[in-house]
Amino acid sequence: MSEAKKSLLVTGGSRGIGAAICRLAAKRGYRVAVNYASNEAAALALVKEIESGGGEAFAIKGDVGNEADVLAMFAAVDSRFGGLDVLVNNAGVVDQKARVDELIMARLERMMRINVIGSILCAREAVRRMSTLHGGKGGAIVNISSAAARLGSPGEYVDYAASKGAIDTFTIGLACEVATEGVRVNAVRPGLIDTEIHASGGQPDRLERIRGAIPMKREGKAAEIASAVLWLLSDEASYTTGALLDVSGAR
Ligand code: NAP
Repeated sequence: MSEAKKSLLVTGGSRGIGAAICRLAAKRGYRVAVNYASNEAAALALVKEIESGGGEAFAIKGDVGNEADVLAMFAAVDSRFGGLDVLVNNAGVVDQKARVDELIMARLERMMRINVIGSILCAREAVRRMSTLHGGKGGAIVNISSAAARLGSPGEYVDYAASKGAIDTFTIGLACEVATEGVRVNAVRPGLIDTEIHASGGQPDRLERIRGAIPMKREGKAAEIASAVLWLLSDEASYTTGALLDVSGAR
């Protein structure tokens, strides 16, 4: 199917990496569902920007870590687009810098609920719509993991790194499970990318601090992650599934 007819849901699509994915997808002709958690103004501004460029998009509020919200979000996509062709599980959070011996239960539950359970719930709903086993016509899922899954984020947020390790494992397992059902499942592992997530974790100077340790000596742009994601979603990646693609300047 041509990209021009495909429908796409991007969780956490209103800002940062998710917004770059929505912008590029709209330019390539996808109809785009932009999910957000609370910042309605950012989501509506992105929808307006896409529409003024001739694209089609709409915003859906919902917490991916809340099952009722996830069900409502997919129902909204069904009614607006008549089904879902491709999903990007992008919504994710970090937290304040802390060692493991300082972590509290509430933080761990939030981290795993949003980053891990949220992605699995959304993938479940996507497979129910895309898999030929369920009468679907196939599709593709890209999970946004992180280089942290390899690096472990010691002294910063090991819990976040572990949540992304879970995403890598989930990607491999689900890819194998639906490999003969027309659904490809891959992950992109961004390195240090210039978005607001670092400030939201209380480290607005994180880019400056880590930049020098990156072999390319620079942070990445959200648009550079979007290019990799759009390739994985496209038919050009027809034999690529279960892959974990590092987009990290060799870090
Ligand atoms: P960001 O700039 O902080 O944007 C986060 C987006 O996710 C926003 O649209 C936000 O919506 C949404 N969101 C947050 N919690 C949500 C929830 N519970 N349900 C639905 N949406 C939610 O983050 P980013 O840097 O673009 O990161 C995107 C993904 O890339 C994350 O999975 C992150 O772990 C991963 N990543 C980022 C980097 C990096 O250096 N930036 C590196 C590796 C991996 P609101 O605006 O409504 O809050």
